[in-house]
Amino acid sequence: MGNWYTDDVKYIAGVGEARAKLLDKELGIATVGDLLYHFPFRYIDRTKIYRIAEIGASGQTLVQFRGRVTGVAYAGAGRKRRFTAYVADATGQAELVWFQGIKWIEKRIEVGREYLVFGRPSFFRNELSLVHPEVETVEKALSRRAESGLQGIYSSTERLSSVLGTKGFHTIVSNAWRIAGERIGETLPPEMRRQYGLATLREALYNIHFPQSPEALRQAQYRLKFEELLGVQLNVMARRSERLARNDGFYFARVGESFNTFYREKLPFPLTGAQKRVVREIRQDTVTGYQMNRLLQGDVGSGKTLVALLSMLLAVDNGFQACMMAPTEILARQHYATLTRLLDGLSVRVAILTGASKARERRAALEGVASGEVQLLVGTHALIEDRVRFANLGLVVIDEQHRFGVEQRARMWTKNEQPPHVLVMTATPIPRTLAMTLYGDLDVSVIDELPPGRRPVRTVHYTDAARLRVWGFLRQEIARGRQAYVVYPLIEESESMDYKDLQDGYEAISRDFPLPEYVVEVVHGRMKPEDKEAAMRRFKSGEAQILVSTTVIEVGVDVPNATVMVIESAERFGLSQLHQLRGRVGRGAEQSYCILMSGEKLSKEARARLDAMCQTNDGFRLAELDLKLRGAGDIAGTQQSGMAFDLKIANPTLDVQILQLTRDAAGGVLAADAALAAPEHAGLRELKRRYSGEKSIDFSMIS
Ligand code: ADP
Ligand code: MG
Repeated sequence: MGNWYTDDVKYIAGVGEARAKLLDKELGIATVGDLLYHFPFRYIDRTKIYRIAEIGASGQTLVQFRGRVTGVAYAGAGRKRRFTAYVADATGQAELVWFQGIKWIEKRIEVGREYLVFGRPSFFRNELSLVHPEVETVEKALSRRAESGLQGIYSSTERLSSVLGTKGFHTIVSNAWRIAGERIGETLPPEMRRQYGLATLREALYNIHFPQSPEALRQAQYRLKFEELLGVQLNVMARRSERLARNDGFYFARVGESFNTFYREKLPFPLTGAQKRVVREIRQDTVTGYQMNRLLQGDVGSGKTLVALLSMLLAVDNGFQACMMAPTEILARQHYATLTRLLDGLSVRVAILTGASKARERRAALEGVASGEVQLLVGTHALIEDRVRFANLGLVVIDEQHRFGVEQRARMWTKNEQPPHVLVMTATPIPRTLAMTLYGDLDVSVIDELPPGRRPVRTVHYTDAARLRVWGFLRQEIARGRQAYVVYPLIEESESMDYKDLQDGYEAISRDFPLPEYVVEVVHGRMKPEDKEAAMRRFKSGEAQILVSTTVIEVGVDVPNATVMVIESAERFGLSQLHQLRGRVGRGAEQSYCILMSGEKLSKEARARLDAMCQTNDGFRLAELDLKLRGAGDIAGTQQSGMAFDLKIANPTLDVQILQLTRDAAGGVLAADAALAAPEHAGLRELKRRYSGEKSIDFSMIS
């Protein structure tokens, strides 16, 4: 590919040392390749010129209009200094405000002259205003060469955008093109480009930054998405064949005493058909001689824990240890309690290890697994630590895996000489091909059936004005012996505003549900683990009727007597999170309720989410809808789900068709040339390397 890709960005005109450092720090852009692969996330039509009166309050869109400067003003002093230019057209007026670079801009603004203004509109005291817009005299704008009019908007950070705005970014990308454009080679073999109708890399990179037409832009996007997903698939498929070629999976050939005794005597209820099928799939996987790498999807409450337990017993019966990793302390403790209870009377030793484990518990776990005495270890991320050494780990179960980062999952593999079987469980349903892309090489099982006798949770949406009614309903349910959760959003564990909401809520609820009649507990991430645990225990035992909490209870917590889930500020939660939270109720035989509380004013999307929640209990349908609502460009959502690969342009949830094509293409190429050693595959080899993920991680270890 030539070395244009690895040239340092600092040599690009308009960049230099200081900006290069900033680009690297803020966006991870160090080379010309990084820069040219930093694609616009949106395009705006610069041929469209608005009249001032037409511009509405749409915080997201950038607009362009013509206006004559009617006056300027200075205000403030020192760092608070501000420069304002007033502009008007025949339909209205606007103010343009600068807080920085005043010296530079004041020389360029002339009262009485007409300018083309471009920027993000906002309204201040009902007056249209733009902060730090781009301005250009109309004569100059008109003299510019006519382009397609589509201008790319680049994602940036606050720090970076103060030195490099939309236009600045555009300039350095143009300059990068000037030094690299000629040297851009091709990554894909010509017959592949022909077969799939793909633009050349050079055309694609040019048009993604400087679209010559909407059609050229579409072609560029298609080509670059294809290339990216192909890079991922080359890795996924190569890893898969390597894994299968190694042929060093542990044999769980025997179904022995633990499994059988548990199955015959301890099983609290018959397995559902789906649970049985998945257990069978796992048994089949573990007698092939290959290492199992399986994703188990099942809606909340579908009974994944039991499947995990049966699989772990299978390991134990064959002389191996198993461990189960959960994303939170609460969940790990709960799993530990469940396993200990279910295995009571069997000679299987279970231990727990979390970050909060006291010395004694920690020692028991560490020594127990090292000597082989402890057969099942349950825990949190603490299981990944180097000091955790197993005697012979045969199976790793990872619960609610979307909560774990790629690296954390990968590290579980290094616990043995020979890799253990891996079972990853999630309540977030995703299509198989997508799961492969997101999580690497794995097989997928689905539990598509809930245990019998479940009554669907009834979901309603109220605004805060109906609070008294909701509390009245809660009293009624509590009087019938039921329990309730009240959950507050907590976006980041550090957001003190959210804590205040939670704390205020807790105080108000404690006032409305006073002792001694009611016991209200609170649980959140900032509490000491032992306090958290004690509060949970009082709720689980039924001593407390109301549990006020943040989303720490989102995953896995199981209290069948809890029948009401009140979600405060429900508009601030995503659909999958709402569904997970709702899954905390409806676990017993009683009718359960989910009450979504929100403010009066809701965005269209928030309303759609809440409506969807009221309409269906089906996690798969909600997941589909979620994708639609979030639409393209929401990479954050996929990143949260622990995506194994850093994708810049493709959205595997929306680009499933391309994903499928790249699987075919990658499979075809690798079948003919597994090492990509042929000269015409040099570009593919480079592509594969580029998408092999973080350097420190062996991607055969991603599950
Ligand atoms: P999840 O898949 O969300 O992790 P759990 O494993 O926590 O679900 O199971 C949810 C509830 O369903 C638990 O209370 C569990 O005991 C119960 N359960 C699991 N399997 C069955 C079954 N086959 N029949 C009846 N109840 C079951
Ligand atoms: Mg679970």
